[in-house]
Amino acid sequence: MVTQSTKLSQIVSTAAPKLAKHRGITVVGDLLEFWPRRYLEHTADLGTLHVGMYVVAVATVKTAATRSMKNRRGEMLTVTITDGAHEVDLVFFKAWGHRDALVPGTTALFAGTVGMYRGRWQLAHPAYQLMHGGLGDAATDRGPIPVYLQVKGMQNWAVAECVRLTLDQLDDLPDPIPAALRGRRGLPGRLAAMRGIHVPDEMPQVYLARQRMRYEEALVLQTLLAQRRAQIALQHTAIARPPGKGGLLDAFDARLPFELTAGQREIGNTLASEMSGDTPMNRLLQGEVGSGKTVIALRAMLAAVDAGGQAALLAPTEVLAAQHHRSITAMLGELAERGMLGGSEIGTQVALLTGSQSTAARKRSLLDVASGDAGIVIGTHALIQEHVQFFDLALVVVDEQHRFGVEQRDAMRDKAKQPPHVLVMTATPIPRTVAMTVFGDMETSTLTELPRGRAPITTHVVPTDNPRWVERTWVRIAEEVRSGRQAYVVCPRIVDTESRGGISDEEVPDTRPAPEDGEPGDGEREEGERQDGESGETAEPRVWASVLAVVEQLRSDPALHGITIDVLHGRMTPEDKDAAMARFTRGETGVLVSTTVIEVGVDVANATVMVVMDADRFGVSQLHQLRGRVGRGGHPGLCLLMTGAEADGGARERLEAVAGTTDGFALAQLDLELRGTGDVLSGRQSGGGRSTRGMGRGSFRFLSLVRDEELILQAREDAAALVAADPDLNAHPELGAAVAERLDAEQAAFLERS
Ligand code: ADP
Ligand code: MG
Repeated sequence: MVTQSTKLSQIVSTAAPKLAKHRGITVVGDLLEFWPRRYLEHTADLGTLHVGMYVVAVATVKTAATRSMKNRRGEMLTVTITDGAHEVDLVFFKAWGHRDALVPGTTALFAGTVGMYRGRWQLAHPAYQLMHGGLGDAATDRGPIPVYLQVKGMQNWAVAECVRLTLDQLDDLPDPIPAALRGRRGLPGRLAAMRGIHVPDEMPQVYLARQRMRYEEALVLQTLLAQRRAQIALQHTAIARPPGKGGLLDAFDARLPFELTAGQREIGNTLASEMSGDTPMNRLLQGEVGSGKTVIALRAMLAAVDAGGQAALLAPTEVLAAQHHRSITAMLGELAERGMLGGSEIGTQVALLTGSQSTAARKRSLLDVASGDAGIVIGTHALIQEHVQFFDLALVVVDEQHRFGVEQRDAMRDKAKQPPHVLVMTATPIPRTVAMTVFGDMETSTLTELPRGRAPITTHVVPTDNPRWVERTWVRIAEEVRSGRQAYVVCPRIVDTESRGGISDEEVPDTRPAPEDGEPGDGEREEGERQDGESGETAEPRVWASVLAVVEQLRSDPALHGITIDVLHGRMTPEDKDAAMARFTRGETGVLVSTTVIEVGVDVANATVMVVMDADRFGVSQLHQLRGRVGRGGHPGLCLLMTGAEADGGARERLEAVAGTTDGFALAQLDLELRGTGDVLSGRQSGGGRSTRGMGRGSFRFLSLVRDEELILQAREDAAALVAADPDLNAHPELGAAVAERLDAEQAAFLERS
């Protein structure tokens, strides 16, 4: 019996080696998932030719003639074919073998590269395959023709024929979608869907089959997530950390210089009640930059300490970890100085743990963490390394989720003797479909209001081809700094390097966030790989502004005379980065020229202006993140997006969109639409060009997070019901197998990335 794992060599013996060699297709299942890239609906096709196009079309021979050639022996054959509406000429310089086959009235599938001869379309020596059975005008009876990725040494129809032969041998295919659900959702079975995709009679079959595959992808993932949620909910393994009275949290609240917003209070209550239970909390907190997430997290951490445990805060970069350490220590004041002179009785200690600390400092921190003296521990991913021992880890807070994958959350969880409560924070607004997939195993809370007194940010696009505007930008910066404020200038690169390829303006810029390792060099991406690797044919190179070039230029700009200009980028040592950040925080630096290391979390209330150089080099959401750095201290913020992109191009349009709204969710949605599903997701966004065969949570063959919100919602409901009734999927082994396979693929993808 033929199954998905049957070797293709048993079915299509001559084609099998080619499929295996060039496309890695060895078994039936591989071939079935060699999805057509598109379909040719032949009748319309001969009407839309252009020179150089490879065309595959069904047509009928109208006339055929042989004649002898002047300079060569033998005869040539010219044929005119028609699809009923349009004609194309064929030419064969050896008539032999073709003359008998291509007689008028014969219908065949033709394939070749379109040329033009004497004002008429021509295919020279096309390949063709006769339509058997004397179908006459079969052209219109035959279904759409699937077009596959080229397999070397095989014509498209040969591939199609292999798929057809294979499908003919199959009686059934395991179907992850339970029959009852299929019925309810009006979807075909898996084998029928495969037929619909590979040998459709008409396009609506293809559409229905694709819909089914989308639903299947959504259902499998949602089932996996539902099981995961259910498992977590069933665990009574966490230690309950109920809020106490008269502890750190109360003392902190009493010294807070502002009132919590209603949203902060409400989410605070949710966290407190979840942490009071013995089911591990697993919650995602999203809120715009500056919406006050850190305060919420800190209050939860203090509650954990009050309940006798420790809290860890994981930051994506060293700069951020150091900054969190500084600002949290400052916010806590004497509450962070237990054991020190003047420190509070009820207080605790805040330890910092990063990969680049001096050995001595690190040893001390490790000791404080292990002994429990440090109630709060702040660090980069160095925190989740093996040898870091906690005394009693109660709560893990992950800041800026996009830098961490699910697997890292899990690793962090494993740090505790018993599963800690987990709070993940992200300032990147997450479209709903993404929340339901990438973060589908978590509960979510959203902060919708900004704290009062937050001044609005104004954003303008500054075209660099207008020197007066550019000049004006620097004058504006100088004014701001002279009136006591500070400014950021963000550049896409650190140094100017020669022989960079450019990227064309149409190309969506690389908007991946930082590499995930949180070590020197993080927080910004180096240019180069992407352009070099992926855009073979691009416009003339553009040299992107670099930190070092810009700082030089600004230091010699008379408009900025006397203003202190400093730099911050990932090639600096951690100490230098810290020092630069600290100088800026203290207000000693007027203008900080940096890469995107300042993208996340950095909070200097006195900074009011940001200039983004070559802003078109950044993604929509990233720009929104960046500008959230200014206007945090009650002074209105100003963001200037410098760009050399053409006025009527897509890049300018994106920038205008950013300038036009401060609604992060709207921009996140736009980003998703611009960049497509694959790139936006996969917790760690390992970038484009990756084969979709190595799946990450964000990768789907059919499902689109832009388009399929409704369907994902349905699948989520269906999956929840299935799992509630049958947690181990005993009644649905085929779904169970598909879930297991998906999980394997994700783990494999994770291993590949790490
Ligand atoms: P996020 O982490 O969401 O970007 P933060 O928690 O860092 O935001 O808050 C940004 C700034 O707003 C901080 O300086 C913080 O002290 C301040 N802040 C937080 N909550 C409030 C509030 N309710 N009222 C006034 N200021 C607040
Ligand atoms: Mg923050």
